[in-house]
Amino acid sequence: MSTQSEKAMRRVRARVDGTVQGVGYRPFVFRLAAELGIAGWVLNDERGVLVEAEGPPDAVHVFLARLRADAPPLAEVRGVEAQDVPVVGEAGFEIVSSVHGGAATAPVTPDSATCDDCLAELADPSDRRHRYPFLNCTNCGPRFTIVRGIPYDRPLTTMAQFEMCDDCRAEYEDPGDRRFHAQPNACPICGPQVRLLERSGEPVEGVGDALRAAADDLLEGTILAVKGLGGYHLACRADSEQAVAALRSRKRREDRPFALLVADVETARSLVELGPVEEALLTSRERPIVLARRLADAAVAPSVAPNVPDLGVMLPYTPMHQLLASDTGVPLVMTSGNTSDEPIAFADEDALDRLRRIADRFLIHDRPIATRTDDSVVRVVRERPLMLRRSRGYVPASLDLPVPSSLHLLGVGAEQKNAFCVAKGDRAWPSHHIGDIKNYETLQSLETGIAHFERLFEVEPQLVVHDLHPDYLSTRYALAREDVQLFSVQHHHAHLAATLAEHGETGLAVGAIFDGTGYGTDGTVWGGEILVGGLDRIERSGRIRPIRMPGGARAVAEPWRMAAAWLTELQVRLPPAFEDIAQPRWNMVARLSINGIGSPFTSSAGRLFDAVAALCGVRLEVTYEGQAAIEFEALADRAAVDPYPLELEHRGTAVALDVRPTILAVLDDIAAGVPVSTISARFHAGLARATTEALVLVAGRQELDLAVLSGGVFQNRLLLELTTAALEEAGLRVLVPEKLPPNDGQIAFGQVAVAAARLAAG
Ligand code: ZN
Ligand code: ZN
Ligand code: FE
Repeated sequence: MSTQSEKAMRRVRARVDGTVQGVGYRPFVFRLAAELGIAGWVLNDERGVLVEAEGPPDAVHVFLARLRADAPPLAEVRGVEAQDVPVVGEAGFEIVSSVHGGAATAPVTPDSATCDDCLAELADPSDRRHRYPFLNCTNCGPRFTIVRGIPYDRPLTTMAQFEMCDDCRAEYEDPGDRRFHAQPNACPICGPQVRLLERSGEPVEGVGDALRAAADDLLEGTILAVKGLGGYHLACRADSEQAVAALRSRKRREDRPFALLVADVETARSLVELGPVEEALLTSRERPIVLARRLADAAVAPSVAPNVPDLGVMLPYTPMHQLLASDTGVPLVMTSGNTSDEPIAFADEDALDRLRRIADRFLIHDRPIATRTDDSVVRVVRERPLMLRRSRGYVPASLDLPVPSSLHLLGVGAEQKNAFCVAKGDRAWPSHHIGDIKNYETLQSLETGIAHFERLFEVEPQLVVHDLHPDYLSTRYALAREDVQLFSVQHHHAHLAATLAEHGETGLAVGAIFDGTGYGTDGTVWGGEILVGGLDRIERSGRIRPIRMPGGARAVAEPWRMAAAWLTELQVRLPPAFEDIAQPRWNMVARLSINGIGSPFTSSAGRLFDAVAALCGVRLEVTYEGQAAIEFEALADRAAVDPYPLELEHRGTAVALDVRPTILAVLDDIAAGVPVSTISARFHAGLARATTEALVLVAGRQELDLAVLSGGVFQNRLLLELTTAALEEAGLRVLVPEKLPPNDGQIAFGQVAVAAARLAAG
């Protein structure tokens, strides 16, 4: 009898790999076992989760399938490997406490937007967490931004200073509870609190509910500094031109668009055009800022996003933001808490000090932020996400390396939009957005960020990979590291490799890598490159015809200088847009573009956009890099498709994109009074066509069928759409960055991908 029933039983040992610790995976297994009548146990070990399950074979079969299929929202199961083991006749299922004293290598997961269960509690007047701005559970809440070290356990988070009350502790210890081992678990009795402060730092008198008072302030037009998840924001109501204009002028010389926070998708739909992909991104648990086309009747002040057709919109990602957005009931500007070029403030004293000049009041709380983490930004091109900044919500999720690394690696990235990347084996961890490393503060956040990631993921870099540019502070940091091997990767090779690697490609491709600036192997400034290569090597097969950058870096801030260089080269007269430039200044720049003093040659596509935008009078000077190109793209009339001439010059096996006929045609159109909307469209179409021709030609010679488009210039939606479509029409498969940005935010990942491939190749 007993033999009979034992025969009918099956027992398996299953190994679950992936992000399965600190995300409610063991309680999920526990509940699943109870539901299916399975006996056995589950535990965390250094590799992930280990399960033994015993029961009727059918039930065990279903159990194994659901270990992956029904995993909790924040878990990412990479594999379930099961083997049969002898039946032991066990009854009941238990969560065994961890071997090796716990989750020593528990991967830290990204911060995640408040889940529906928590939102329901937040809105429920009878719940003990009604309107509690820090409620969370195993399925949602802060992670990366509160972690100070590993193991990922409360004492090593910024929640350490808050002792759980009896109710919270009971939830935390109950395997059947949604808050079982939720490290940031808290309630109004025991957890963090918000406070509303005057600019002076004194508490605002007579405030009951600080959040409601803050919402009232916002409705009255006050500018608030708001301490969020990864840093301070500056907030004001977005429908008041007076409030937004005041914020803009206090932030100083900023033309950059401000992002908006709205309470729900319906409100978002009233502001911008949303397709299914945009909506999915907007409501995803990563909650990025989604750039989408502004509706004509959007109730948003003009100063929110001057001269651009898109608005950046996001939904609340913490209970506090949810309350602010729904209490005010209007779209709110939610822009990073800093003045122009500084990094976002995240430490309280520093924020009070720096933002006092901008904010009228402060909405703060007493849970410290461990790592400064900016909002992520994404737009949708051809129904695919195009990441513009990958940070809060996505970091520190890992990416696979297509060629595993035999050494522990660190890629230090470039200089602008810096992010670094650590890697070992087949996994790489691209960092949060560090920013432009050109001052002590950003360099310091690079250094502390690297140390933090090395601890979190137990990477001890043996090989440090840096850009070829000798003067980047990231390069200098790499060179100063002791006891490591060094390896340099050319900037545009890193762009190409990062794109290949995130798509798991190990083969060869042709690539158009268009950006602002990158140090070439010949010491000149590259930025409009046609490459052939793969992870381990590249060859330069073409480029945009080089021109001088009069005054070097000054030409980036003053696009008219690039226009002047072309006009001098082509020996043509100034268009009307240049009448305001004083003759001596003009002469000086013209001279520089001839004698070349401090004015290197560049093949940069970004500078070409600057030149044409300036010729059209769109912008002679800019307050942020790429501004002229962004505004020029915005003006394009998509109906006009007659491309400008742009010829391919052949030099041996290399091609050059000769843009001189383009510039002349632009000047003709300007003289003929053709509107800028047409000029912009014709320019985009011409560049896309010539880029396609060059790539198709090179691909044909090398018998390749794969093309890569990347570099910051491909943040331009029109150029990316036109070029991708034309390449596909010509029969090429096209890869575009999705998980990482096409801008220099992808460089560090590309650096480690190249290094790993080179190590493998010997
Ligand atoms: Zn939750
Ligand atoms: Zn509590
Ligand atoms: Fe770049």
